[in-house]
Order: sequence, then C-alpha cells, then structure tokens
Amino acid sequence: MFAWSIATVCLGGTLESKLSAIAKAGFRAVELFENDLTFFNGRPSDVRRMADDLGLSIVALQPMRDFEGMPGAARLRNFERAERKFDLMDELGVNLLCLCSNVSPEAINDDRQAAADLAELADRAGARGLRIGYEALAWGTHIKDWMQAWHLVELADRPNLGLVLDSFHACVRGNPIAPMADLPGDKIALVQVADAPGLLMDALALSRHHRCFPGQGDLPVDAFIEACLATGYRGPVSLEIFNDQFRGALPGQIALDGMRALEACAERIAKTGRTPDIERLPGAHLPAPSTVSKVEFVEFATAGPEGDKLEAVLRGLGFQKVAQHRSKEVVLLRQNGVNIVINRERDGFAHSFYLVHGTSVCAMAFAVDHVDRTLDRANALGATTYHGRIGAGEATIPAVRGVEGSLIYLISDTPEGLGFWERDFVFEQSAQVGGPITGIDHLSNTVRRPEFFTWLTFYKAVLGFEDVPQVEVADPYGAFYSRCVRTPNRSVQIPLNVSDGGATVLARFLDATSGSGVQQIAFETPDLFSFVEKARSEGVTFLPIPDNYYADLAARYDLDPALLEQMRSLGILYDRSATGEFFHIYTESFDDRFFFEVLERRDYDLFGAANTPVRLVAQARSQDARRAIS
Ligand code: MG
Repeated sequence: MFAWSIATVCLGGTLESKLSAIAKAGFRAVELFENDLTFFNGRPSDVRRMADDLGLSIVALQPMRDFEGMPGAARLRNFERAERKFDLMDELGVNLLCLCSNVSPEAINDDRQAAADLAELADRAGARGLRIGYEALAWGTHIKDWMQAWHLVELADRPNLGLVLDSFHACVRGNPIAPMADLPGDKIALVQVADAPGLLMDALALSRHHRCFPGQGDLPVDAFIEACLATGYRGPVSLEIFNDQFRGALPGQIALDGMRALEACAERIAKTGRTPDIERLPGAHLPAPSTVSKVEFVEFATAGPEGDKLEAVLRGLGFQKVAQHRSKEVVLLRQNGVNIVINRERDGFAHSFYLVHGTSVCAMAFAVDHVDRTLDRANALGATTYHGRIGAGEATIPAVRGVEGSLIYLISDTPEGLGFWERDFVFEQSAQVGGPITGIDHLSNTVRRPEFFTWLTFYKAVLGFEDVPQVEVADPYGAFYSRCVRTPNRSVQIPLNVSDGGATVLARFLDATSGSGVQQIAFETPDLFSFVEKARSEGVTFLPIPDNYYADLAARYDLDPALLEQMRSLGILYDRSATGEFFHIYTESFDDRFFFEVLERRDYDLFGAANTPVRLVAQARSQDARRAIS
C-alpha cells in the first residue's frame, strides 16, 4: 500500500482518539504501537474493527525488542514471546511485525547467530502468513545502522524478512543515504520518516524526546524518501515521531501537522522530477504558494479607552488617522506604505477576539499574486478559510485562519484588489501620508511551546514560507528560543518565539493575552536617530536601557564616542555583523502585552539577537516596577 502513514506513538491521548484524529487528517494507513493496545480497554479485534470503520489500514505492529543474538534461555523465551505477538497480529489482522536491533548488553556479537535467529523468526512468522521487518537502532548493541541490518537480512535470506528503514536512524550517525537507493525494493518492509534538530546530544535522548515532523528539523528527510523510492519500494511511508510536546498537544492538530509535513515533502520531491511515482502520494499536486509582496495591513482588535491609548501610541510613532470604515467602527492609521487598522466593532470576529485576548493583533493581511490559489492550497492542507461579514458595496476579503484563531487576510496585489481601501473606507485626508517609518520589517509571534511546531508547519506548508536556523538566548527568568519564518522574497518575516520558564517575558505575554499572538511589530526607518528624537518629543516612552550596556558596547566595538553617547542618550541598541550595522529601539510595552520596535538596517541581515537579553531584562524590570506600583 503506497501511502502516507503515521505511527500511533506520534500522538497523545487514547487509542480511540488517536485513530480518529489520524483518519480525520487524511491518513489511510497507521502503524500500531503495542503500548496503545495494552492501554486500550477492549479486544484487539475491536481495534481492527475501529480501524476498518475509519478507513485505516494497520500496516505494522511495533515493536519487538532485544531478540536476535541472545544466549541460552533468553533466546528460547524470545521465540515464545514472538508466538504471542503473532497471535495478537492474527486478531488485529496485521501482517508486519517490526523488530528493532538488540540493545541488550547480553546480546552476542555474532552475525551468523543473529541472522540464524532472524531466519527462524521469519520461518515461524511465515508459517502463519506474517512478515518481519528488521530495523537498526542507532544505539543497538551491535547493529547500529541500516547497512549492518541489511547484512543480517541478506544472510538470513528469507522471503518474508525485510528491512525497516528509518530516516532518524539512517541519518543521525551521519551515514551516507545515497547507497540505500541500491537496495532491492522488495526487501524493504517499511519506510519510517522522522526529522530531528541538529542538536549535539546522545542519539537515544534525541530520538526519544526531540524527533519531529519532516521540515521541522535538520535531517535530509527528502533525500531519504527519494533514496527509499529509488529502490522500487512502494509500501507505506510512515511518520514515527517520539516527542513529548506532540504527545502533550491535541491529537487532531498533531495528526494534521504530520499530514501537512508529508504533503510538503511530496511537493518538494515532485519538483525535482527525479521520482515520478511521488505523484501518486497526496501533496505532489498542491496548488503552488503565492508570492507575497507585503503585509498590506495589521489589524488590532480593541475597545474603549484602550483603543484611544493605542491610537495615541501609534500617532507618536508617526502614524496618521487617514480613513474611517464606511460601515464599521474601524479606522485606518497610515504612514507611507504601512497600514494599521484599529477595530472597535461590538460584534463579529474582531470583537470576539478582543473578548478572549484583549487589545491585540487579531489579523494580518498579505498582498498576494493569487488569492484563490492560496485559498485552494490552504483548503487542500486542511486549513480553515474564512469570509467575514461585509456591508453593502464593500469588498469581500477572504482569510486563512491561523493556529490560534487569528486571521491572515489575502488581498490581490493588483490595483483592483488594492482598491478595497477606497471601496471600504472614507478617506478624511490624502491617502498618501509620509513619515519616518517606511515599512514593516518583521512581526514576532509569541507561541506556546506545545504549539511551536504547529505554527512552523502552518507557515511553511500552508503559506510556503521558509525558515532560518533557531536562535537561543537567556531570558532573566528562563530561556528564549526564536526561529524566523519568512517568505522566500523576505517581504514578510515572522520570528516564532518560545520560552521556557513560568515568569519569562514571553510567558507573561501568553498569560496577559490568553494565548499565542503577535507580541512585537518591528517597523523600519531610514534614520532611527531623528525618528527617536521626534517620537520622544511626542511623548512616546521607550524601554530604558542601562548605562552598563553602552559601557559593554564600547568595550566590544570600536565605536565613535559621539555616536555611542548619542545612542546612550536616546536608548538605541546596536549590533554589527560581517556585512553591516544595526540600530534599534523598543517602545515600552502596551499593558504588558505587545510592543513596537523601530529599526534601521545598514547592510545588516539579522534581527539583533545579541540584544534580546538586554531587552528581556529591561522589559521584566519595567513590568516588575509597574506591578509594584499598581
Ligand atoms: Mg523506527
């Protein structure tokens, strides 16, 4: 059965909820982990019926452990154990048993003995019409990689004995993948895929806790799948992920993330043209992602005095109120090409969002070259699309729902598409307004840790973003991780930020807003120094930066003392890369919720991560001071 598959071990919850989540995400094949069966309150035949009803084929039972090359009595016990597994497989209607290479310290280092054990196991299975798949674990006592496992399978030479190829074990020890393509396809029993971050840690710990879906880590999973299919193998390609965060999340979401990740794999592999049969798997024919030319607007949901306060902050940053919506309590603040929409409606989506999250970014709009195609792609990948309530004569702006209920509106980047501003809004002054801010550089999205990979896969698979390597810094109350997703043309950049620790600035944001969302909007300006001087005179308060920071800058860089003093007096932060310089500043946060950054890039390509700890400490200090007063 040539199909995408997923192992039940990837998901948290009961076996019933796992199977229904897996079927709902579009899978037709599943690997059953024996633990799930052990904890199931029913007979194996009930599981078989449940899978049948959901249209799921159980492609393997996992795992049999510590089998080959055992001495004396342990060896005999293993064969008895295997017969009991075969009984179970009969009841389940499962044909393939996955056997992991032996990790017992008692295992004998004798290939001939190990191969003879595999041969006998295969013969016993064969007598009952069953098959055995043998998999090298990277931490096996003697068999640690697929080449060694293949040697044993060849020695054993049984028609119903094949190899299980797992991308994690195949890649984690740095072994070459290309020679895998020379294996005979009919000797591959199962292909399992997992990604993992490039962390330098013990392979067992990395496998048990940090496996992730393809595209979420650093392993060459696409090349692995291509090599496996080059053998002629056309069986299930199955996700096998051990990840504590996945098991702690909703099984429906994780199953959907898994399918999205696999479909994105199929799409990438199909593009290479090297593996035509990939076209038979879901994902190979996804509508292409759109080109995003810019963030057309950012929309805040708010109400009452909070909305007035937000408008005042934005006016201090140089924005002007230019238009009022024709039928809604919605205003447009603009500066050059940057549009901020403030929504004070008392019903509808923005108001519901406000009731749950308070004053916050409820939507972003991307200007794209193909709206319908973007919606088709989102629908194909199981995303929810949305069409809001509109007034007579107003434009319909479709949207894709983000992970935590926020919306991403899609606007055609044609003059006709962008004409929605004039159709929906009454302009009180010229639509062309200048100011020091010239664009949105990035929007930082603070996310709950269990949802991090969901956001990552949403942006990458659904919207066609790419990601850049993760940055890790110390937070005064824990740790802070950031991984940026961006459009290939870099018109939209969204660092996804996660923290560990209950009192981190990010954790406080998640508490304050009851969930994930945009915590920071970074605007770009060609002249930060004059911007800050003007904004300070307009009453904008920026995050206070300690003098020690500037003493440290002086020690690290050969900076002009006058420039350094100017930065110190204005509270501007500085970073330097091999290519250029970076100047930036942060506003005080809005009710401990979100804040604005204004930055000036001088041939500098990064995000000033070196200054993130300074910012986090300063924000924590400001918050603590406010809480002490209130
Ligand atoms: Mg495996």
